[in-house]
Amino acid sequence: MARDRKSFTVNKLLPTSTAGSLPKPSWLAQPEKLWSPWKLQDQELAEGKQDALRLALADQQQAGIDIVSDGEQTRQHFVTTFIEHLDGVDFQKRETVRIRDRYDASVPTVVDAVSRPKSVFVEDARFLRQQTTQPIKWALPGPMTMIDTLYDAHYKSREKLAWEFAKILNDEARELQAAGVDIIQFDEPAFNVFFDEVNDWGIAALERAAEGLTCETAVHICYGYGIKANTDWKKTLGSEWRQYEESFPKLQTSSINLISLECNNSHVPIDLIEMLRGKKVMVGAIDVASEVVETPEDVADTLRKALQFVDADKLYPCTNCGMAPLPRRTAAGKLRALSAGAEIIRKELSA
Ligand SMILES: [Zn+2]
Repeated sequence: MARDRKSFTVNKLLPTSTAGSLPKPSWLAQPEKLWSPWKLQDQELAEGKQDALRLALADQQQAGIDIVSDGEQTRQHFVTTFIEHLDGVDFQKRETVRIRDRYDASVPTVVDAVSRPKSVFVEDARFLRQQTTQPIKWALPGPMTMIDTLYDAHYKSREKLAWEFAKILNDEARELQAAGVDIIQFDEPAFNVFFDEVNDWGIAALERAAEGLTCETAVHICYGYGIKANTDWKKTLGSEWRQYEESFPKLQTSSINLISLECNNSHVPIDLIEMLRGKKVMVGAIDVASEVVETPEDVADTLRKALQFVDADKLYPCTNCGMAPLPRRTAAGKLRALSAGAEIIRKELSA
């Protein structure tokens, strides 16, 4: 394929993308639900996942999204599916833990040294690469968010386990890069919760996961899907959400190229982005916790505000988080609004 992956370029300002997940078709899994079980099996499931990936890509292309993804169609959950492919974690042995200090969940147990017997998403990435010449972004869970969804009976140290996961993620990321992925994104919603750990070892573990990559690297930090546990938690955060203030200084000096964050309809003071000056910023301009579809002008408003704190050539319009739990029609409308809103600002910038 005649394209230079190492220095992918989108020949326009404000290239749009999504944080990652998109709704699945109802024939593949029950919509508007997290951890929704698959409706197909074996070979039918394998083909169904590929068909869904193609549809997710087509939806993004029809909406005019510039940097496309798989819409996470081949995974049940952004963290669990990756961990299911690893050795050392017993999914039958479950313990109840508090996830992100927010809600109790029954989680698998780390019973032995963790390892990745074979690649997890590389075949899927290769398949996506075959379907398009557009830049593609691939999301992986971040090390800190992974440890936060497990009970650790082996390492008995969050830092040690995170470090082991970082090494595993790095192996996967290198293979994804070789398969033609242009941006590898690590999802770290846990960075908005465990501030001391973020600064003690969280960002170091993230950099370990991205070590040696020559493609672009991103970290996505958000306030989560629009599910009840998250919306209840958000009610306790007060009128100004300043959580990003804790991680931004160290992220600004980190080796990670892009920071993806939530900016629309949340209580995040947008001037916090100034702390990242110099980094590329994926500005969340679509609220994933609401089924109200933004107008292009809503999106443009958010981007206009962000432009006070991010240089135009470093602003990547995006969604606040994944859209997996939304109705498909709603998600498609939000993609179109994102695209149209970015176009409004492009025109303003060129005027
Ligand atoms: Zn998110």
